[in-house]
Amino acid sequence: MNEFDFRQWSHKAADWSADYLEGIGDRPVRPRVTPGDIAAQIPPSPPETGQAMEEIFADFESLIPGAMTHWQHPRFFAYFPSNAAPAAMVAEQLVTTMAAQCMLWQTSPAATELEIAMVDWLRQAVGLPNGFKGVFQDTASSATLCAVLTMRERALEWTGNQTGLAGGKRLRIYASTRTHSSIDKAAWIAGIGQDNLVKIATDDSPGGTFAMDATALKQAVAEDRAAGHLPAGIIICVGGTSIGACDNVAEICAIAKEEGLYTHLDAAWAGSAMICPEFRHLWAGAEEADSIVLNPHKWLGSGIECSAHFLRDPAPLLNTMAIRPEYLKTYGQDEIVNFSEWSVQLGRRFRALKVWFLLRAYGLEGLRARIRNHVAWTVKLAERLAVEPDFEITTPPILSLFTFKYRPDAADNLDALNRRLIEAINDDGRIYLTQTDFEGSQVIRFSAGQFDTREADVDIAFDVITQVARGMGTG
Ligand SMILES: *Cc1c(COP(=O)(O)O)cnc(C)c1O
Repeated sequence: MNEFDFRQWSHKAADWSADYLEGIGDRPVRPRVTPGDIAAQIPPSPPETGQAMEEIFADFESLIPGAMTHWQHPRFFAYFPSNAAPAAMVAEQLVTTMAAQCMLWQTSPAATELEIAMVDWLRQAVGLPNGFKGVFQDTASSATLCAVLTMRERALEWTGNQTGLAGGKRLRIYASTRTHSSIDKAAWIAGIGQDNLVKIATDDSPGGTFAMDATALKQAVAEDRAAGHLPAGIIICVGGTSIGACDNVAEICAIAKEEGLYTHLDAAWAGSAMICPEFRHLWAGAEEADSIVLNPHKWLGSGIECSAHFLRDPAPLLNTMAIRPEYLKTYGQDEIVNFSEWSVQLGRRFRALKVWFLLRAYGLEGLRARIRNHVAWTVKLAERLAVEPDFEITTPPILSLFTFKYRPDAADNLDALNRRLIEAINDDGRIYLTQTDFEGSQVIRFSAGQFDTREADVDIAFDVITQVARGMGTG
């Protein structure tokens, strides 16, 4: 076995990382590769003996970065961002080195106590009341799964984990038609089933936020009770992925209270913006929700994976998720928090360190300035596109997301044209955009949120979109 020079290669990796970030704007955002290109270059079997790091590192450099989609690119305007601030990346290196496993207080005292503190810092940052507790889950999908499991167990009076679901009443969960697919998946995994996730229509009137129709929700719950089903909970959406839909949180929570239903608020993307008081109207009433998820790894700069899962009262979650075999007990420590009891995972990464570095290095004002800029520049871009003769804004900006369509007069198949436009823009490489559908047709999403995006990058987006579209013809 060869001696591994950890210091040398760590320095090399740090230098590589700094160079990568400095030069990232010169790379195409989405690589020009086709499926199988990279796999074809990986040996089919592992080596029997260790290889030189020079060789390994050289292969990394020649094979990997050029075939990556660059989420740190300042002109990444696709999906939602998954941004990582330099200070948070440094924290991640330290965490990786300690290889911390944060399942119990005892296995990671500082990590557990820092996690409690950082969840509370974030709680204050987004303006949730004192009393909300929380945990860092890996992703919003996991937080939502935990919430749906909690809805299930609470509705079953804590018997489901023991007896399973066979033979019982049909559990019912409610969400608007504009919620994220992670809600559907949570219903699948929780054994509730797609057919029992009741999708409620939204109010799409102009000037609104595509919010769940409260009357339709009440009616669906009443019909389910009349049919002998068991309503369990409501998923509330603030900042839906497709077009940024926001439910009326206060109104839905009031219905949930009347009906005795558990509520989970999915603000995976938009939640980060709540550090700015002027955006909190979008989730007015959030303090009434039982469970809330927001992803600092989307728009605050923590780097993936980091989902803040807030709970008005952690007891229902713990009743659902905590399992205490002898080998995980910590005797004589009744007051401690063991975060594996709050999540699906047992083994957990030390996520709080990057949040600590992040919040201290930039301060809330530094983070607010970025989000405010992203929103302002997005609004400006939408205004510029709106007055271009061949473009139409299909859904207005909600925070830093809007959708639009290219619709030149001569075009007949607009869906195909817009799909071709997205491909042409992404092949150009200067920016990266993705699509969604709205009212049955293909539209193009624009979403800003990369940590180091500047106004000039959004201006380039305007140039690329208009130039590529006009260079393409209409056929
Ligand atoms: C991104 C997103 C999710 C899923 O987030 P993960 O952390 O990747 O699981 C869920 N809901 C909304 C609204 C999102 O934008």
